[in-house]
Amino acid sequence: MAQKYDFIVVGAGILGIFHAYHAAAMGLSVLLLEKNPSPQGATVRNFGQVVPSGMPQGKWQEYGIYATRLYKELQASAGLNIRCEGSTYVASDEEEMTLLEELHKINTANDYPSAMLTAEEACHRLPGLKRSYAKGALYFPEEITADSRVLASQLIDFLRENIGVVYRNRQNVTACAYANGVCTVQTATGDVYHASQVALCNGSDFQALFPSLFYAANIEVTKLQMLETKPQTGYSLPGNVLTGLTIRRYESFRECPSYQAMDHDAAQPELRALGIHLLFKQTAEGTIYLGDSHEYQDAPDAGLLGYELDETINALMLKEARRIFGLPHWEIRKAWYGIYAQHKADAIFQHTLDGHIHIATAIGGKGMTTAAGFAKENIEAIFNLQP
Ligand SMILES: Cc1cc2nc3c(=O)[nH]c(=O)nc-3n(C[C@H](O)[C@H](O)[C@H](O)COP(=O)(O)OP(=O)(O)OC[C@H]3O[C@@H](n4cnc5c(N)ncnc54)[C@H](O)[C@@H]3O)c2cc1C
Repeated sequence: MAQKYDFIVVGAGILGIFHAYHAAAMGLSVLLLEKNPSPQGATVRNFGQVVPSGMPQGKWQEYGIYATRLYKELQASAGLNIRCEGSTYVASDEEEMTLLEELHKINTANDYPSAMLTAEEACHRLPGLKRSYAKGALYFPEEITADSRVLASQLIDFLRENIGVVYRNRQNVTACAYANGVCTVQTATGDVYHASQVALCNGSDFQALFPSLFYAANIEVTKLQMLETKPQTGYSLPGNVLTGLTIRRYESFRECPSYQAMDHDAAQPELRALGIHLLFKQTAEGTIYLGDSHEYQDAPDAGLLGYELDETINALMLKEARRIFGLPHWEIRKAWYGIYAQHKADAIFQHTLDGHIHIATAIGGKGMTTAAGFAKENIEAIFNLQP
């Protein structure tokens, strides 16, 4: 007879992992199901930048600040590959400098630490940053970088070994229903599991479960291209680096008083047309991640994004990267893309079926930063617990 759990989580991306974490931490019995041998979605393909500074003020920045604290706590207990070296936003012109100064004021008023850097200070902090590019920078000392290639596996091991979560991989969930007081979850391999409540954290996979619901839900999917250089011997780049077009793109800057009056379309239209804005981070091996670009399709047409990497996009990203940094070399060792889902009107897509099947997905480009905080609140709501 199938074993019954308090809670089943479908999908072991960062949202599913933190739903499982918070439920198990509250003493519930939890089963986490993943269709792949190990997670393969956006959670392992991303930058791993944990940047509450890029979130809108209010609850999404709070989720990010909470998540940063939790990652730091788990660094020791779960052996996470986290680097606590802050985030630096580099402005390339006067408009971007204005936005940095305004965001600095907003965060100072909110007691979220940040510091303005002159162009010289920015170049000193970020070796190789070109003085011809940098007009100044804003530094957030508390922010962190995670090694996203291994973070999910490290967290899953911690959940299994320390807080009793049962994890099953190669379990593609193909049916999920609530009847007669119990949720029944079935997989393509014929396994059946029961629970009081289910969370569906399926990332951008809308084909296996409730496709009509997702296709009608105003969700789009975004394809992002990423590059990684070969190791940069004898070179060290600290923390998350975010540059001019990121300043014009991230939600936190849209809340700055001067943002609306600026003509952002005039800034590098060729790059903006492909959603390119340049971020950098160094990995523990010394390689540099750089990216990314953004191409969009509505959820039912996700397949139209294609399976190939666009070399034009890679060339444009590299050209812009070289305008910003002088790295020891620009030899690329890997190129890949990731896909995330995003609700077009809301910060996340949430929907509950029959009072017991709780969908939480389409968190967009902020999952590594905010999922831990969002999941905590969602678990409290699902199980009617007081925070
Ligand atoms: C290139 C790139 C760079 C990014 N950079 C950052 C960044 O620096 N900072 C940041 O905060 N965010 C970043 N993001 C966004 C972040 O990666 C996502 O918001 C986050 O990973 C989404 O997590 P998720 O759990 O919702 O989805 P996913 O990571 O896609 O996980 C969903 C999981 O569910 C599984 N699954 C789906 N359906 C089923 C089923 N039926 N049965 C069983 N398992 C199922 C999938 O196999 C997958 O493992 C980036 C994203 C990309 C693509």
